[in-house]
Amino acid sequence: MEHLDDLERQEMWKAIQDALLNDHIDQFRAEFLELHPYDQARIFEEMDQEVRLQIYTYLSPEEIAEVMEHIDYEDIEPFFAEMDPRFAAQVFAEMSTDDAVDILNELDKEKVASFLTIMDDEAAEEIKDLLHYEEKTGGSIMTTEFVVVKAGMKIREAMLHLRKEAPDAETIYYTYVINEDKQLVGVISLRDLIISEEEWLISDVMNERVVSVSVGEDQEEIARMMRDYDFLALPVVDFQDHLLGIITVDDIMDVMEEEASDDYSKLAGISDVESTDENAFQSAKKRLPWLIILLFLGSFTASLIGRFEETLDKVAILAIFIPLIAGMAGNTGTQALAVAVRGIATGDIDKQGKWKMILKEAGTGLITGISCGLLITIIVYLWQSNFYLGLLVGLSVALTLVVATLAGSLVPIIMHRFNIDPAVASGPFITTINDIISILIYFGMATAFMNLLI
Ligand code: ATP
Ligand code: MG
Repeated sequence: MEHLDDLERQEMWKAIQDALLNDHIDQFRAEFLELHPYDQARIFEEMDQEVRLQIYTYLSPEEIAEVMEHIDYEDIEPFFAEMDPRFAAQVFAEMSTDDAVDILNELDKEKVASFLTIMDDEAAEEIKDLLHYEEKTGGSIMTTEFVVVKAGMKIREAMLHLRKEAPDAETIYYTYVINEDKQLVGVISLRDLIISEEEWLISDVMNERVVSVSVGEDQEEIARMMRDYDFLALPVVDFQDHLLGIITVDDIMDVMEEEASDDYSKLAGISDVESTDENAFQSAKKRLPWLIILLFLGSFTASLIGRFEETLDKVAILAIFIPLIAGMAGNTGTQALAVAVRGIATGDIDKQGKWKMILKEAGTGLITGISCGLLITIIVYLWQSNFYLGLLVGLSVALTLVVATLAGSLVPIIMHRFNIDPAVASGPFITTINDIISILIYFGMATAFMNLLI
């Protein structure tokens, strides 16, 4: 209910509850159905089970289907479990097939089979066909509710056909044109249909150069195409160009959200996507391997500092700047990493060229390095009244920022090159690598210019 303001929400909520409490079916329907299905779903989720059972008897499968389409797939199982199985099967049949398939994919196989047997044949067949496709491919996110016409139809016939098909179609904005063999040969937008003369043929006005995606195509790639071409829907074909389904832009928005959260979890060193309902042990099991590897790397960093013990003994003040320099390296590395991973994920890097991006990062590192280096030189000088110490810290920060920025962008690009998912070049790793680099630079220079410091 986040999108309705609080007062509205309270009033609506009260009216709906009153109606339910007093068994006023008509009043409940009037209040509830006036809301957008998104808001209906939010109210629905907050209800007690008892009340929801009451609601199932007040609303039709079609009306419940709309509510279900606006609930997260991961949270939906309990609702279908509490419905009468016959009612649940009807709800599935009323949903758009792509949404129904997404939800059924979350349930266990036996339950799915039992729903499909109760469902009417036509709906069951459509759903069964879609259940076969591999997860995260065009086939798994497409829907089969699209409108097709033949190239030889007159515009008038096509309009009549469209009018008849419209109630069940996922979108009516594009009508696809197929030949005798059901191969995709053209597309025509609603705008084009409306402005054409009734006597014209579809083949006269259709667009023959149709952009399509194949059923096996990765959903991330499809999202990219949708963005590049700006279409509201894309047709899905098999390898012989048979039209199998369409993917609409609203499905693509879900894909983008899913892929983004995938990438960010990996960035944070969390393998797979941790869902919020995992218990502490399950989460710990996923994160521990990473943390243990990082622990070893961290010990290596510590032993590295140990090697400069002699330098540290002579100039103990050096120690207080370790966290500062290592921290700056980590910060800039993570920034560069995030930019690189996003560029790889969106495909922008391939388009603009890796070298251009690396060069740009080097430039950024240089500018930020010189600025921060100068600043810290002045600060350390004023604070410790030791010019050479200030210079050392400043130079270290400057050099470290250049190298760390480069590392942050190079590591994911190299991983990508070797077909390792760049998002696993996670933040903690870059941070640790940059710790090592920064300490080497800092103590290396301190050791070399020792006589200036004492
Ligand atoms: P315009 O942007 O030109 O005003 P529009 O807003 O009516 O057109 P868009 O969604 O922008 O429609 O689609 C532009 C054109 O692209 C339409 O003429 C439509 O026929 C065509 N089109 C739609 N889908 C595809 C596709 N998959 N491949 C090629 N062309 C397509
Ligand atoms: Mg347009």
